[in-house]
Amino acid sequence: MALLEIKNLHAKVAVAGGREILKGVNLTVNAGEVHALMGRNGCGKSTLFQVIAGRETYEVTQGSITYEGKDLLEMSAEERAREGVFLAFQSPVEIPGVSTDYFLKAAVNEVRKHHGEPELDAMQFLKLFKEKRELLEIDASFTRRAVNEGFSGGEKKRNEVFQMAVMNPNLGLLDETDSGLDVDALKTVAKGINTLHQQDAHRALLVVTHQERLLKSIVPDFVHVMVEGRIIESGGKELALRVEQRGYAGIEAEVRQGA
Ligand code: ADP
Ligand code: MG
Repeated sequence: MALLEIKNLHAKVAVAGGREILKGVNLTVNAGEVHALMGRNGCGKSTLFQVIAGRETYEVTQGSITYEGKDLLEMSAEERAREGVFLAFQSPVEIPGVSTDYFLKAAVNEVRKHHGEPELDAMQFLKLFKEKRELLEIDASFTRRAVNEGFSGGEKKRNEVFQMAVMNPNLGLLDETDSGLDVDALKTVAKGINTLHQQDAHRALLVVTHQERLLKSIVPDFVHVMVEGRIIESGGKELALRVEQRGYAGIEAEVRQGA
């Protein structure tokens, strides 16, 4: 059974007369796999992630998403999170007045309760946070601050990966987590993501990136190219190199010729 199975997914902006953004997405992700999703700005990558995470801004008009054999579209965004779907936002939101530590404790214990596991206590959280902070090379003061408030773009991205590390999801959706990072930060974040991947052979990652460079560190099993709300080409890691060399227009032209 696939971890995530998306079939002929159509979605539109959930307002009267809202435009259709996803126009028939098909995608299968198995446990343990890393998939990269590439495509021009505005082709629908973030929308796909938001629809998987259950954001109500979008309405699914056709097709299905199955997660661990269950109908994901039947679940609320909170249920999806409890079931192990984690989205690292392209533009992380600020939560004034709530520290990252506090927010994560609540979220982790919520998930544990859902699975009938005992809640973690303060000491266990200290240990967990310390381990994950070290992985992502972030300072303790950083996660005591209000979530993302006054963080630089790169700090927000690092904080998203820290949250993912603590939440320990089955399916991690990383939306341009590499954008805005300097070279060193990119290395740290890539190392963090790789470690998370290696620590759990079942965890799958779906990563949106424009940079072939990132995919040298986080080597994908599959690469997909999206154009206007559809995945038009899928391949191995060499497809990312083809994108780098020929551009999205080049890939589109090749696909059209081959069709
Ligand atoms: P990508 O992440 O691939 O750059 P997005 O999924 O963010 O693209 O957006 C796809 C298209 O849908 C864009 O043209 C964007 O402007 C439009 N879009 C996304 N969300 C909304 C929304 N809530 N309302 C109106 N248009 C939207
Ligand atoms: Mg986007």
